[in-house]
Amino acid sequence: DKKHKVTVIGSGNWGSTISKIVAENTKEYPDIFEEEVQMWVYEEEVTLPSDSPHYDPAIGDKPQNLTHIINTYHENIKYLPGVRLPSNLVANPSVVDAARDATILIFNLPHQFIHSVCDKLRGHILPFARGISCIKGVNVSDDGISLFSEWIGDGLGIYVGALSGANIASEIAAEKWSETTIAYDPPPMDNSRVPSPRATSRSPCHGCAQANGDGNGDGRAASANIVDRLQALTPADMQHKDARGRTSKTKLTPLPAVYPPLDHDTFKRLFHRSYFHVRMVSDVAGVSLGGALKNIVAIAAGFVDGRGWGDNAKAAIMRVGLLEMVKFGQEFFGETVRTGTFTEESAGVADLITSCSGGRNFRCARKAVLEGLSVQEVEARELNGQKLQGTSTAAEVNSFLKARGLELEYPLFTAVHEILEGRHSVDDIPSLVSDN
Ligand code: NAD
Ligand code: 13P
Repeated sequence: DKKHKVTVIGSGNWGSTISKIVAENTKEYPDIFEEEVQMWVYEEEVTLPSDSPHYDPAIGDKPQNLTHIINTYHENIKYLPGVRLPSNLVANPSVVDAARDATILIFNLPHQFIHSVCDKLRGHILPFARGISCIKGVNVSDDGISLFSEWIGDGLGIYVGALSGANIASEIAAEKWSETTIAYDPPPMDNSRVPSPRATSRSPCHGCAQANGDGNGDGRAASANIVDRLQALTPADMQHKDARGRTSKTKLTPLPAVYPPLDHDTFKRLFHRSYFHVRMVSDVAGVSLGGALKNIVAIAAGFVDGRGWGDNAKAAIMRVGLLEMVKFGQEFFGETVRTGTFTEESAGVADLITSCSGGRNFRCARKAVLEGLSVQEVEARELNGQKLQGTSTAAEVNSFLKARGLELEYPLFTAVHEILEGRHSVDDIPSLVSDN
C-alpha cells in the first residue's frame, strides 16, 4: 500500500511553522505518511548576519539562496529565525516539483500570492490529491466572494478544507501550547473510496493518465481502481457541495484505496502535536471566514490601543467585530456556516482575542497610530518581508460590501477601510461603530 506524500505550499512565518509540525508528525506515523515533507519556498537571496551561528567567514556577506540555507542549516533564517526545522523537511524552489506526487497539499502563504502559485500548479498535481488551506483571507472578484479553500479547490479540481485558529506562529514554533480548528467535509465518495487494487486491462481515463504519469510506481494499480470506481460512480457522486451548500462544478477524482483514507483521523494525525491541539469540524466556511475577518478587527484594536484608549476600548472593538463576523457569515454563507464556529472554536473568538492582543496586524496598526505613519510603512519597516493580511482584506471586503450597498451594515469593517484610506481618523471610531 502507498503512503501519503505531504507538500506545504509556502514557507513564511506560519508556512515554516506548519511545515515543522507536519514533518514532526510524518516521522511519527510512518505507516500513513512518507517521512519526507516538501516545502515550496519562494526563492530569494539572503545574507547571513555575522552574529548568526551559521555564519561562515569564507562566505562572508555573500547572499545565498534561502532554499540552500534551509536545507543546509535546517532553519528559515529570514521568516522563522532561531527555530530548528526537522531534517526531513526539504525546501524546494520549484512549486511544480515540490507538489509532484503529493496526495496532501497544504496551502500556506499570504493570500495576495495564491493566484499566481495556483496558476503554476494547475495540471501538475495528482487528480485525487486533497488540500488544506491555512490562508487567512477571502477571495473577492467581480463574481463575488469566495473562500480560498473553495477557490483553490475549484481551480485545481480537488477538494480543499481549511485550518485556522488562535495561532501566532512564533509561539507555536517555540512549542508553546495552543489550539487550532480544522474543517474538512469531503464528499461522500471519499468515504466509500475505490476498491482494493486488482489487475485490469481497461485503458485509463483522463484523470488516471495524469496519475500514471506521475511516477507513482504502482500507478497502474491506482489507475485501475479509479477506472473501476469511476465506472460505478454517477455524475452526482463526483460532485460535492461547496461552502455555500451549492453543488460544485468541480468533479472530484476518488482517492485510490491503495492509500490510507483521507479523513478526520488522518488529518488529526498530520497536524496534532502535544503543543498544538487540533479540533476537527465540518464548517469550512465558518473556519475560513473567522480567520479572514478577524484581521480587519485586529487592525481596529491596534488603532484604539495606539490611541491610548486602553483595554475597555479594545474589548468594545472585539465585541462589535465578532458581531460583524457572525453577521457576515450568516448573510453570505448562511446555508452552511455555523454561528457556533465563530463563538466556540479556536478559529473564531479565540483567534479574534489573540490577534487583537499580539498579532502582526494589531502591532503594526498600533505603531502606525503611535508614530503617525501608515500601516503599510510600519509593515515594510518592521516585518522583514512578512505580509499583513488585514489591510488588503479590509479593502477587499469593503469593495464587496460597497458593490451591494451594504457598507453601513458593517460599520467597523467599513471604518477600518476608511481610516486606512485616510478618509476618517481613529477618533471617529466611537461615533462610526456605536449605535447610540
Ligand atoms: P509571511 O507573512 O511570513 O509572508 C512571507 C511569505 O511570502 C514568505 O514565504 C515569502 O517567500 C512569500 N512571498 C513573498 N513574495 C512572494 C511572491 N511574490 N510570491 C509568492 N510568495 C511570496 O507568511 P505567513 O506568516 O506564513 O502567512 C501565510 C498565511 O498564514 C497568511 O494568510 C496568514 O494570515 C496566515 N497565518 C499567519 C500566522 C502568523 O502568525 N504568521 C498565523 C496564522 C495564520
Ligand atoms: P497576524 O497575521 O495579525 O500576526 O495574525 C496571526 C494569526 O492569524 C494568529 O492567529
